[in-house]
Amino acid sequence: TNEEAAARTAAATADTGGPTIFDKIIAKEIPSSIVYEDEKVLAFRDINPQAPVHVLVIPKLRDGLTGLDKAEPRHAEILGQLLYAAKVVAEKEGVADGFRVVINNGAEGCQSVYHLHVHVLGGRQN
Ligand code: C5P
Repeated sequence: TNEEAAARTAAATADTGGPTIFDKIIAKEIPSSIVYEDEKVLAFRDINPQAPVHVLVIPKLRDGLTGLDKAEPRHAEILGQLLYAAKVVAEKEGVADGFRVVINNGAEGCQSVYHLHVHVLGGRQN
């Protein structure tokens, strides 16, 4: 049934706190197209772009931030750094005058990778 399929999808995308594919991207064990990188943050092109510019900005250290819903006061600095990096990415990609920043949270929010990531989307009318 549709309900069973939905339950399977939710289970497959559950927040287990285990390693994710982004660990391998951070470790450069799998290649990615890096747009911006500093000590704390990595930004790389989404493998399945939904817009001409589609970049993911992630913290190099997850520190419990599987999703935004897990944010604690100690995460305030990295959260700010991610948003600032999103702006830098938009400038570097030439879309600073029109872009979107999206965070999907939870299975029902269509989150599929449980390592906090900020989508930066631009390059066409959103
Ligand atoms: O917000 P959500 O969790 O759905 O976003 C995960 C994003 O990670 C997707 O847009 C997907 O295309 C991207 N991804 C990627 N490289 C991978 C695995 C997922 O860019 N190896």
